[in-house]
Amino acid sequence: MSGETKGKLALYWAASCGGCEIAVLAINEKILDVAALFDIVFWPVAVDGKVRDVEKMPDGSIDVCLFNGAIRTSEQEYMAQLLRRKSKVLVAFGACSHEGGIPGLANANNRRQIFETAYHDTPSTDNASGVEPQPKTEVPEGSLHLPVFYDTVRTLDQTVPVDYYLPGCPPEADRIWDAITAIVEKKLPPPGSVIGPETTVCQECPRVRNEKKIKKFYRTWEIMPDSETCLLEQGLLCAGIATRAGCGAKCPQVNSPCIGCYGPNVGVHDAGARLMTALASVIDSNDPAEIDRIIREGIPDPVGSFYRFGLAASYLRRSKRGNGKAAETEPTAQAVH
Ligand code: SF4
Repeated sequence: MSGETKGKLALYWAASCGGCEIAVLAINEKILDVAALFDIVFWPVAVDGKVRDVEKMPDGSIDVCLFNGAIRTSEQEYMAQLLRRKSKVLVAFGACSHEGGIPGLANANNRRQIFETAYHDTPSTDNASGVEPQPKTEVPEGSLHLPVFYDTVRTLDQTVPVDYYLPGCPPEADRIWDAITAIVEKKLPPPGSVIGPETTVCQECPRVRNEKKIKKFYRTWEIMPDSETCLLEQGLLCAGIATRAGCGAKCPQVNSPCIGCYGPNVGVHDAGARLMTALASVIDSNDPAEIDRIIREGIPDPVGSFYRFGLAASYLRRSKRGNGKAAETEPTAQAVH
């Protein structure tokens, strides 16, 4: 990408909610600068490109690919492999590609349990013949294919090598612009880096911390916290203490605890383990039984509280089943056009 030549940019959406796609537009009129700097060669949510167009591109011909979403299906795995091959720089964009995100919470269950809930058990499901999606269905006209739904959600870097990470659910517009500027000005940090500050949300948060210890955790609907004191010290489970900065502490500033979407701070692999360690320092007890009670009563959903965004990337990665062997063999990636 030289000063005269426009770069080539691709954006892709795998297992995610679509918020990352909207976040790109949150840079507002700067999107025009992006259009001036890059030809957008693939962006399925906004541009009518086909996968076969990407397949025909020379390897390494895309300068930057912003890939959001985790890897849940064979189609997403295929697209991750394809875009890795075609891109010079692959960015894991947003919490789902970075750490598995909310889709990664499905790793608390397996494919069979998820299908039972989604296609059979929910009160609103009317499925008397027990139909479930099949990867291949024969019809008179030929074979129909659907992507294979994998047993385990993976992060992007558990699937293909990743050059940079832009965390957040979704990444803040200012951080997106910082990343684009760093790419254009060739001021990127070393490969493998998270693009963002190396501090925690607590250090961006204006609330006052008094090193007060707590005897009880509250759910957010149980109390109306005061607007100046640290939420954790008021008994709300705030993950800011263990979460990378970059968001501007937006949630704590509106009385809502940080939920950890920017992932672990620099040097920390497992965000949930780090948060548990941090919480241990604020519980006002040395009695293991009382600590156990305080956590059980105040944090009824430990996986959703400590690993809301990071289960797929954590040391645990997923729940163990039976003797710990994989439930089912995962098929290999396949193109779905
Ligand atoms: Fe702010 Fe939460 Fe950190 Fe307290 S724990 S200082 S509320 S980010």
